[in-house]
Amino acid sequence: MLIGVPREIKNHEYRVGLTPESVAELIHHGHSVLIETGAGDGIGDSDEDYVAAGAEIAPDAHTVFQRADMIVKVKEPQASERAMLRQGQVLFTYLHLAPDPAQTRDLVDSGAVAIAYETVTDASGGLPLLKPMSQVAGRMSIQAGANALEKAHGGRGVLLGGVPGVQPAKVVVLGGGVVGYHAAENAVGLSADVTILDKSPAALERLSGHFGAKARVLYSNKASIADAVASADLVIGAVLIPGASAPKLVTRDMLSTMKQGAVLVDVAIDQGGCFETSHATTHADPTFLVDGIVHYCVANMPGAVARTSTYALNNATLPHVVRLANMGWRDALIADPHLRAGLNVWNGRVTCAPVAAVQDYEF
Ligand code: NAD
Repeated sequence: MLIGVPREIKNHEYRVGLTPESVAELIHHGHSVLIETGAGDGIGDSDEDYVAAGAEIAPDAHTVFQRADMIVKVKEPQASERAMLRQGQVLFTYLHLAPDPAQTRDLVDSGAVAIAYETVTDASGGLPLLKPMSQVAGRMSIQAGANALEKAHGGRGVLLGGVPGVQPAKVVVLGGGVVGYHAAENAVGLSADVTILDKSPAALERLSGHFGAKARVLYSNKASIADAVASADLVIGAVLIPGASAPKLVTRDMLSTMKQGAVLVDVAIDQGGCFETSHATTHADPTFLVDGIVHYCVANMPGAVARTSTYALNNATLPHVVRLANMGWRDALIADPHLRAGLNVWNGRVTCAPVAAVQDYEF
């Protein structure tokens, strides 16, 4: 199979679909790989590194899309990329279709086989291709929040861990899944005062067992969220309802109860955001103010640490890429119900139930 990797074109996105090591693995399995020139620049891997691994270099994205049987990417295809997809071509990447009807429409019209990283499952019901990026975003959310809390960045001028004799900042983490766990880990590591809220009894038990006295673990409901947010210096939005838009847990009214210069980091922004006042931002201009509260809502946080993220992502995606290439997409999906859960659009139909429901497609 010919596997194509275009250079990512989303604002400040430096990751790449395949590392040179992953290319070498695919070549070892008897496949060919076509990489757009410069695709690895953002992670410090040159065209020469890819050629040494066995790849062919394409002069532009058009050549990659025209020739490849399967496109392996990182972020959802942008409009110009969607226009290059063709009937039956496999697209394996993050899609996040629920809040993005324009993308769904273009993928349906293309006739491509669109498999989304974020809805592939594993035997324990987890989302193994979302997990590595969630680990990165969770850890990053605390350093992004700490930065935004600085006075020069619009924050209230609070150091997360305080110093001896001065109180630490109050960090509230909404959702204690992968992002929330890793955010809380870093916040605890910096000696902040940490509260984690979740709805799932299993998550509450796991978090409580892990953090013990180092963090408060509370059941999430309207009252507990309102109470925690009112006294917070930093709130991390890390909830997920798989395949659906994020619930708006913090309303605009609630901002008036918060301290001026407090910071909201909406990691769930890629699913529409869990704060009513959020809108997606970029690394070039990551924050904005609403009612004196700093919002950080970068939709592709792991892109800022592109090398770590690309290697972490490839560790999780490569086994699936190899299987799709070795078996062909149809047999690979028939053989593996977890990979099949990743199929979002096929042959002009939406095949992911929550996306079909929210955007009114026949399922
Ligand atoms: P996860 O499934 O591991 O965790 C989500 C948690 O939210 C679960 O524990 C769930 O019980 C909890 N939850 C659901 N509803 C809740 C509610 N009302 N109150 C409190 N908790 C609730 O998911 P994850 O991997 O941690 O991902 C979280 C979000 O971060 C997702 O939207 C994901 O797409 C996003 N994400 C964003 C970036 C970025 O760059 N912005 C990067 C990675 C992940």
